[in-house]
Amino acid sequence: MLTIGCHLSVSKGYAAMGKTACSIGANTFAFFTRNPRGGTVRALNEDDVAALRTLLDEHGFGQLVAHAPYTYNLCSAKEDARAFAIASMREDLERMAALPGQLYNFHPGSHVGQGADRGAALIAEGLCQVLQAGAPTRVLLETMAGKGTEMGRSFEELAHIIELVERARPELEGALGVCMDTCHVSDAGYDIIHDLDGVLAHFDEVVGLERLCAVHLNDSKNPCGAHKDRHACIGEGYLGSEALGGGEDVLYRIVTHPALKDLPFILETPNELDGYAREIAYLRKLAETADGAPSGTPSSQSAVQERRLCMCNRLLSQ
Ligand code: FE
Ligand code: FE
Ligand code: ZN
Repeated sequence: MLTIGCHLSVSKGYAAMGKTACSIGANTFAFFTRNPRGGTVRALNEDDVAALRTLLDEHGFGQLVAHAPYTYNLCSAKEDARAFAIASMREDLERMAALPGQLYNFHPGSHVGQGADRGAALIAEGLCQVLQAGAPTRVLLETMAGKGTEMGRSFEELAHIIELVERARPELEGALGVCMDTCHVSDAGYDIIHDLDGVLAHFDEVVGLERLCAVHLNDSKNPCGAHKDRHACIGEGYLGSEALGGGEDVLYRIVTHPALKDLPFILETPNELDGYAREIAYLRKLAETADGAPSGTPSSQSAVQERRLCMCNRLLSQ
């Protein structure tokens, strides 16, 4: 069974998120560890956390994927901004320990003109202060669209950061993983529309599929390589819409791919709860057709033609 859910608001507490997830057919979800603009945190209500833990057990949830606020920037040029990100991530992970065994995803950061090498060094330095060997929460770097000076735009960049951390602190081996955002990787130039296998093989070579722990399943308002990061509803963007060159077969391959199908899928599409419920039901149904190809699968011939037309194999062909 697909492990799938969406981003939920934490404003009514932890157990409330679990109940909301159940009400929309989800068996995982994502939430911000604190106000997405940064800010203060409410004290953790132990009863509330315990109630969620019971609910997750009873309903057979997969791993949750907590999300760090967007405001953290481990590779800011400003020391106080880096210190804020480090202190906040440490605090988030202390709180996450009350829900052991879940995932915590963050945006690597923006190097703001310092260059990708300096960016990677600063992120690794920060992570070395944040991570603890044997901690109950795996920390995931998110694949990014490459907007502005965003780090994490390529698998190589992510692998480099992980390598720097493990070289400095070998005891942290395995503490870091990756969350693959389908909108972001496509925007970054990875052609998951026509060559998901190739992209994942490349990921395996560079990062290692064993590091891949979660998927943000989003359609994209922009074509492959656009570096824009605008999420579309499932089936309404360049991945899932036939009119835009994608289609149901693209979504089908994502939710049934052997390297992905058992990971938690988190929707971050522009929806209200009823929209999420529809997307979850649709994708569950699609995944269940795994024995027969879904309707609308293009012939391999036309897939090859489309691929030639696609201008976005830049990263893959290098
Ligand atoms: Fe994200
Ligand atoms: Fe994402
Ligand atoms: Zn995004």
